[in-house]
Amino acid sequence: MLSASEHTPLLRLTGISKSFGTQVALHPLDLSVARGDFVALLGPSGCGKTTLLRVIGGFLRSDQGRVEINGADVTDLGPEQRPTNMVFQGYGLFPHMTVRENVAYGLKIARVPAEKRNQAVGEILEMMHISGLSDRLPRALSGGQQQRVALARALVMKPSVLLLDEPLAALDLQLRKSMQIELRNLHREIGGTFICVTHDQGEAIGLANRVAVMNAGRIVQEGTPEDIYQRPSNAFVAGFVGESNILSLTRQSGSCRLADNIIPSSGPDGTVAMMIRPDDISLVEVKPAAEISLYGQLTDAVFMGDHVKLIVAAETGDTLTVHRSRQEWQSDPLESGKRVFASWSRDACHILEQS
Ligand code: ATP
Repeated sequence: MLSASEHTPLLRLTGISKSFGTQVALHPLDLSVARGDFVALLGPSGCGKTTLLRVIGGFLRSDQGRVEINGADVTDLGPEQRPTNMVFQGYGLFPHMTVRENVAYGLKIARVPAEKRNQAVGEILEMMHISGLSDRLPRALSGGQQQRVALARALVMKPSVLLLDEPLAALDLQLRKSMQIELRNLHREIGGTFICVTHDQGEAIGLANRVAVMNAGRIVQEGTPEDIYQRPSNAFVAGFVGESNILSLTRQSGSCRLADNIIPSSGPDGTVAMMIRPDDISLVEVKPAAEISLYGQLTDAVFMGDHVKLIVAAETGDTLTVHRSRQEWQSDPLESGKRVFASWSRDACHILEQS
């Protein structure tokens, strides 16, 4: 049996809104985060991710709404009174303090006795593999090392919720990939609750076990990375997360017609969007009976490293993107200009509500 506190979300936002003058940054929104989750707030620039993170951390007061952490109302509390800790974009390390002093700072302010403090700092430096750097100043560290120090400085405070603002944005691609894995492992080892802001869908999906997709001040879908990728609930999410083909169809009396295919779809009559992922489409020479198919012409094949991206001009006037693995392509390449059927199963059709 779970106790009542285990049922209570660790973080609960209710009706949070925020405007800057006439600029609405957040429309009233709700979000619940369970203990131990790694949540990514994902969305394009200006959608309100950082504003939401700052509201959670107490750096910004929402206009309306309530922030609860561990069941307690913290809406009126400042950052230092909340059981949260934030790692800022650019890390915000104190330039005149050594790594050890940076990491020890919060504990010192909290008047933790020196012996306990030294032990906690030693442990976290060890865990982040930066013990050897403890006497260096931040300017003598690489970007990845600074990132580790910033994480250590936040984690040493044992926050209930760790807030990360674009934590890997300053790192080059190679380092970003390896830090993603480290961050995931760190989250698993610590068992804490992390909330991370990112505009990079690959990063959100690679890091988090829950993703909240934001657009124009709203959370437009919240779920596991699989939910978001495989069952996007609207056209914005389908277009923003992963590559997608979005076709516009007319629904009438419970079905949509696409060329000579009839696709059952319940809902009101009118225009609907249908999304198909590029890796769900096959290109075949003979029209498959049981599948949905569009006749078309292969217009381009672009080598992407691990896969080949094929562009098909379909009979409906739509352009389809199709992915093939490198191995498949090498064993059976198609010539540009070839006439083909692009086909996919009913299960691969996702009807999206317009938003
Ligand atoms: P980015 O990825 O570019 O950082 P974001 O999704 O984090 O974007 P926010 O920084 O939360 O977006 O900004 C949301 C909206 O609120 C934007 O239109 C932004 O211009 C506006 N905004 C944010 N902070 C302020 C401020 N202090 N004063 C005025 N407008 C602001």
